[in-house]
Order: sequence, then structure tokens, then C-alpha cells
Amino acid sequence: MSIKQVGVVGAGVMGTGLAQSLAQARFDVILLDISDDILSRARGEIRKNLRLAKMLDPQAMPESVDSVLSRITCTTEAGGFGAVDFVIENVVEKWAVKEQVYHEIDPICPPHAVFAANTSAISITRIASATGRPSQVLGMHFMNPVPMKPMVEVIRGYHTSEQTLHTARELLTTMGKSCVVVQDMPGFVSNRVLMLTINEAVFLLQDQVASAEDVDTIFRSCFGHKMGPLETADLIGLDTILYSIEVLYESYNDSKYRPCPLLKKMVDAGLHGRKNGRGFYTYE
Ligand code: NAD
Repeated sequence: MSIKQVGVVGAGVMGTGLAQSLAQARFDVILLDISDDILSRARGEIRKNLRLAKMLDPQAMPESVDSVLSRITCTTEAGGFGAVDFVIENVVEKWAVKEQVYHEIDPICPPHAVFAANTSAISITRIASATGRPSQVLGMHFMNPVPMKPMVEVIRGYHTSEQTLHTARELLTTMGKSCVVVQDMPGFVSNRVLMLTINEAVFLLQDQVASAEDVDTIFRSCFGHKMGPLETADLIGLDTILYSIEVLYESYNDSKYRPCPLLKKMVDAGLHGRKNGRGFYTYE
């Protein structure tokens, strides 16, 4: 299948990076979110990141910033998805919100369109059940920040067809990315491990075993990680971490996934990490 137009649902941390990467790979992008304010912030962010990318490596980005941006259309109306070939969904990590989105877009998108869920933990088979095209639904767990991360965790749901996986691989190749394909279980490979690690790091902080800086320094200096677990949590977003660990807790009914009360408290206090300037650290 030849992919020309890609629908991106959600213009937050992930949707913004995805829209940029897809437009740089010369796909036409329709970026959907619930308000014009969110969309105009996303467009501004993409413009800023493209300018920076061009300044740092002009050869890697021969096109002008405006030319890349001209391939991104922002909308608050799902009706704009009438001609998409591929959809990548990036709304908040809550089943009720995602389910509603799939119910809305399924009847609008062309029958051939593939749906990729960029979820952190929700079962792809469950997501597919909210559509009338389960064989054309898969998980594509992009890493953050999307334009800089070359690897994607691709998840095969119960009904995902070989053709769907093939189409997804083609899209990723055009974006200059590779993938590892895994089977569907909540959290997949990456977040079954990462979310537990981050949650336990927050327990360390809550138990006053060490400061955030010291926790992260141990992971960076002793294990050679580029970032410690609490810095990583700030990058992902503490709200997204909490929702993901809640999904894991509910999915496995296993107490090892119980969210740390300090994490809940920080999210309730509006400390969402880098995206709003305050998390375990503060940002400009
Ligand atoms: P975010 O909170 O930054 O953005 C979510 C966006 O979804 C918001 O802009 C919100 O307005 C929008 N949204 C909510 N309801 C909507 C609707 N009905 N229609 C259209 N848009 C709607 O979250 P994020 O970090 O971008 O995460 C998005 C998804 O990607 C989540 O499922 C998350 O688990 C997953 N994910 C996140 C990361 C990460 O590092 N942040 C990495 C991989 C996957």
C-alpha cells in the first residue's frame, strides 16, 4: 500500500514529535486535537524544533522550515480523516479516552487505513476491539523525542495481519526508523520494565533514601544509562507515567504495579515534568 496521508491524533509530547518526523519524511499530515490553542502550541513547537534541526545540520534538512510545515494541517475535526492511509493515535493514556477516539475515527477513515496506537501500556487487542478493523490495528510505541529516536517497539495484537505489519514497516523505513516486533501484553517489553523502575525510584524518594539527583546519578554513573529514572520520568510526563502504571496495575491485578503515593500527589499538584516546567526537577 502506498501511504501518502497520515492522520496523527493528539498533539501533545508524542503527537507533536510524530507530526514533525512524518512531515520531514514527506508525508502529508493531518494533526487532530481537541482545541485550537493546543494545536497552535504544537505548530509553534514544531517550527522551533525544525529551525534548530536545520541550524545544527543543514545537510540533513535541505528543505525550508516553511516547506516542511506546509505538509502539516491542524484540525479539531475528526472529519478531516476522510482520506488518510494511516493513523497514529497519541491521546492520553486512558482507556475511556482512547476508546472514544477509535469509535469516532473508525467510520470516517477509509476502509484500507491502518490504525497504529502509540500507547505506553494499553493492550493493542483491547484497542482493536473498539474498531471494526482489528486486523488493521497494531501498536507502534515510539520513543521520546520522536525525531531523535531511531527505534520503535511494534506490537502485534491478537488479530494484527502480516499485511498490516508490512505497511507499518514501510512507513517506519521512510521515516528512517527501525523496529522490534513483540507480542501483545500490557506494557509490552519496554514499559513493563521501565514503569516499574520509575515507580520504585519514586518510592526511594518517598522513603527519603536519596535525593532525586543522587538516584539519577547512580543510574548514570554506575550503569552507564544516559538518563536516570527520575529524569526519564520528567521527560515522559509524570501524568503519563501514573496513567501507565495504573493501566498495568489494572491489567495484571498484580500489586507490584501499585502506583507510588508520591507520584499521585505530584500529578495532583500539577507537577507533570518537562512539559509544564516542574517535576522532579525544574525547567526553564
Ligand atoms: P500528552 O498529555 O502530552 O498529549 C496528549 C494529547 O492528547 C493532548 O494534547 C490532548 O489534548 C490530546 N487529546 C485528548 N483527548 C483527545 C481527543 N479526544 N481527540 C484528540 N486529541 C485528544 O501525552 P503524550 O506524552 O503525548 O502521550 C500520548 C500517548 O503516547 C499516550 O498513550 C502515552 O502513553 C504514549 N506515549 C508517551 C510517551 C512519552 O514519552 N510521553 C512515549 C511513548 C508513548
